[in-house]
Amino acid sequence: SKTEDLKTEHIFKSRLPEIPIINHLPLHSYLFEKLPQFSDKPCLISGSTGKIYTYSETHLLCCKTASGLSKLGIKKGDVVMILLQNCPEFVFSFFGASMIGAICTPANPFYTPSEIFKQVKLSSAKMVITQSQFVDKLRENDEFKIDEDFKVITIDNPPENCLHFSVLSESNEAEIPESEFDPNDPVCLPFSSGTTGLPKGVILTHKSLSTSVAQQVDGDNPNMHLTEQDVMLCVLPLFHIFSLNSVLMIALRSGSGILLMPKFEINSLLQLIQEHKVSVAMVVPPLVLALAKNQMVEKYDLSSIRIVMSGAAPLGKELEDALRERIPQAILGQGYGMTEAGPVLSMCPGFAKEPLQTKPGSCGIVVRNAEMKIVDPDTGVSVGYNEAGEICIRGEQIMKGYLNDPASTAATIDIEGWLHTGDIGYVDDDEEVYIVDRDEAAGEVPVAFVVRSTNGLDLTEETVKEYIAKQVVFYKKLHNVYFIHAIPKSASGKILRKELRARLALPHSTV
Ligand code: AMP
Repeated sequence: SKTEDLKTEHIFKSRLPEIPIINHLPLHSYLFEKLPQFSDKPCLISGSTGKIYTYSETHLLCCKTASGLSKLGIKKGDVVMILLQNCPEFVFSFFGASMIGAICTPANPFYTPSEIFKQVKLSSAKMVITQSQFVDKLRENDEFKIDEDFKVITIDNPPENCLHFSVLSESNEAEIPESEFDPNDPVCLPFSSGTTGLPKGVILTHKSLSTSVAQQVDGDNPNMHLTEQDVMLCVLPLFHIFSLNSVLMIALRSGSGILLMPKFEINSLLQLIQEHKVSVAMVVPPLVLALAKNQMVEKYDLSSIRIVMSGAAPLGKELEDALRERIPQAILGQGYGMTEAGPVLSMCPGFAKEPLQTKPGSCGIVVRNAEMKIVDPDTGVSVGYNEAGEICIRGEQIMKGYLNDPASTAATIDIEGWLHTGDIGYVDDDEEVYIVDRDEAAGEVPVAFVVRSTNGLDLTEETVKEYIAKQVVFYKKLHNVYFIHAIPKSASGKILRKELRARLALPHSTV
């Protein structure tokens, strides 16, 4: 019976105590809650222009943008696409939209025209805020029309039919319309491939994102001890939820400075870390590689860095050790996130008042006020310490669901509220989370499993690779194509990634 099942469920929780979480406010109100305390402190530091916006200037520009968006016809529930490299306008647009109940869908400006167009269509975006260099990508789609109902705004010199960002940022902040608010209203719509299939809109609400931020930085002894003295490196793209949440939002809540870099370039990165005394660096494994191995690092003073946290992809132990040698004073740890999970599932707690360093290779401990379980993917039964299975997470931080896709939502979040990540991992005796389903040396690369139709038996690997290469951003190009007879699926129709992965271990020709 169900009660008996519950009794035998193995549920893992944070080593840190639960805290009261404020998640009934609009996201911007929650994040700027301590504005009076931080008002004159540097908030956004533009790495490209050197311009610094204090907390009150940043907040004011968000309010002006809110008013401007509303004057251009954006209403509660409307979707605005942000197609920008990291810059202050990204922040003004995101929170400006939040202030009028609108929703931002962030997209990678280096996507191909068709990838961008798909996201515009699927999200029903009514406006794109971008840079003039990306407008041609929009225009490349025949169906795309810039008109009264679909506006394009550029933060630099606007091309024909586009408007300049000043129509937003110079609007009167006193004219923000009131709207009804529910904490379960969506505020952010990132796109993710999820555990299966094509990109889908991930609905993150005011409540999910405030909960996630609180889990990271609120309360006594938080996972991330950020203070007003900290300066956070924001070089990871804000269009990805890792940077948007676990850099920008947690910094705003804590009154820390945010150093915005539009792109990664090792010399300017090192120069800016030194100049602005960056203390917290949220990174991904390729950045760890650069910091650990690039000779230029020796020429700069990186002594201000006290925390380096890597996430989004596996970090090998060898790399972790190499970085530790380079930046010995810093606490180094990992976080584990997934867009659908809001995104943080677990993170290194090494930033607690008394450092509680996690072990190398571990993704930290599950965030507080959340539950994790590890289930046998075949039987669905939860397992105990040190046993591997599919990682599942439950809590108020997870997505509301996929946009207009109840079937995928139901395949990902079960009726008891557990989000199934598709990642295989385990929890050890110290409550630390490990992901085991990965290739430590090379990281992960895209491959395809293809079922040939009867009239396509001559389809080759090269043809598939070329076909995909034309449609996707460079890092999604296929490294290998495997032809199989059928895609393995579970009874509920979910693709069995574990089985597909197992086939990768076989020699190419026998898959
Ligand atoms: P995304 O939705 O783009 O954030 O991708 C989420 C996926 O990235 C997760 O489901 C994991 O497979 C992977 N991932 C995130 N963080 C880590 C980590 N620290 N180690 C290994 N894999 C990770």
